[in-house]
Amino acid sequence: MRFPFALSAKIAGHIIKHKLRKTPKFAMVLQLEPLHTCNLTCTGCGRIREYSTNLKDMVPLEKCLAVADECEAPMVSICGGEPLIYPKIEELVAGLLQQGRIIYICTNGVFMRKKMRDYLAAVYSPAMEAKLQELLNAELVTAKEAEVIRKSDAAARQKVVIRPSQWMYWNVHVDGLEFTHDLIVEREGVFKECVLAIKMAKILGYQTATNTTVYKETDVQELEDMFGFLSSLNVDGHTISPGYEYDAAKKDMVKRLGKQPEDFFLTRKMTRQKFARIQEWGEKFTIFGTPVYQEFLAGKRELTCTAWAIPTYNIKGWKAPCYLMTDGHYDGFQEMLTKVQWDKYGVVDGVARDPRCENCMVHCGYDPSGALGTNYQRGDNWKNFKYNFGAKPKPFTATAALTQRAFNGVTIGKGHLAEAKAAINSPRAAMNGAQAAFSRKAEPHDHSHASGGTANGGCGTGDTTQRDELLAKIAEGKKT
Ligand code: SF4
Ligand code: SF4
Repeated sequence: MRFPFALSAKIAGHIIKHKLRKTPKFAMVLQLEPLHTCNLTCTGCGRIREYSTNLKDMVPLEKCLAVADECEAPMVSICGGEPLIYPKIEELVAGLLQQGRIIYICTNGVFMRKKMRDYLAAVYSPAMEAKLQELLNAELVTAKEAEVIRKSDAAARQKVVIRPSQWMYWNVHVDGLEFTHDLIVEREGVFKECVLAIKMAKILGYQTATNTTVYKETDVQELEDMFGFLSSLNVDGHTISPGYEYDAAKKDMVKRLGKQPEDFFLTRKMTRQKFARIQEWGEKFTIFGTPVYQEFLAGKRELTCTAWAIPTYNIKGWKAPCYLMTDGHYDGFQEMLTKVQWDKYGVVDGVARDPRCENCMVHCGYDPSGALGTNYQRGDNWKNFKYNFGAKPKPFTATAALTQRAFNGVTIGKGHLAEAKAAINSPRAAMNGAQAAFSRKAEPHDHSHASGGTANGGCGTGDTTQRDELLAKIAEGKKT
């Protein structure tokens, strides 16, 4: 099956229950953002720019659990910011599992191996030595880390940890192969780390998924290679969604990169071109979601936005109308459902009810529409059932050629900073002080946030001042 039976049955049961009760609007997936702090500053990410990224601004654990309970969504996607920075992430996962929810931890992958080492340290016994050796042989843990795991103390053993569970997925953000991904996340080496983390997770028995945003520049062939490569790593499923022009990100693009939004985000027409083969991909790869949504992406039908089915809760409350757009925050989920004028949003028969919705075809607005039967066409239910309960596509074979195509960036010396490095190594740039600025940036710094040391304008605050200064100096060096 594409999606484990117990999980599919839970979601189907939830929909049927509300259909029988004739509930007009209900939650399918809660997008829970316990914090907005992140260790990366990805191009196009509105979160780290729209909200405070101060570690003090967090949703308390009890509140996180209470809102999941309040909206009763069977699935919770813990996102952010980077959720693995949330100090109570382990307790949050444990609490949500106790509530019987399906959990996705949407992570950029950088801290995943650390969290899995914590798990190993908590459960280690000599019986696990073979597993540890496997990780050592694959260079997924170092000899020093293995020793720490073997000699874990009482504190490490008592720590609440994120354990493998059929109800939980690591959902790793991957936007392309190495060069593209590292460029989008604006840091070299992140793709490689994601791959290592996925490999480690699979050895330890975790379920893994990936989520991909498609941008204007995204190459369709590269996407196929990416899915093929991820499939060869035995990733359990993929979410894919078009990128979208929305205020916070738009402002950032114009200000920081000197780009126009239409240079970067997809219009509806372009989305349909990019996703023309989505149904074919759905047959070859374990793409999560409904075939109805895939038809919508491919331009074969229209759907009406059901953003209320994937509500977002964050430090300011229930965010309306959707994950992307903010017209207000509400204290209660039912209050939001009642007070928001939902018929002001979305695109109906090709006409945008709100101009900001014009180019939107995102997963969080339209995938639930496919599952809930909005714009129902005969046979849709059977189509969705067959897709989700049908056979899972076979994993791709990991060939050397595929792996070579995947690692097409920093691994072969073609990182996105390569050009910058070359520029600053020129004698002229050196005279302008670019080298000094670059070495400062490259100094090792702590991403753990354990010390709360993110208020210094460094990595994790979303403050890109240092990099912007560096790029300005490089540009200056090139001119002279
Ligand atoms: S990983 Fe990137 S996209 Fe995700 S919150 Fe951090 S900066 Fe934003
Ligand atoms: S169409 Fe729906 S999901 Fe998209 S921006 Fe509008 S309200 Fe949000």
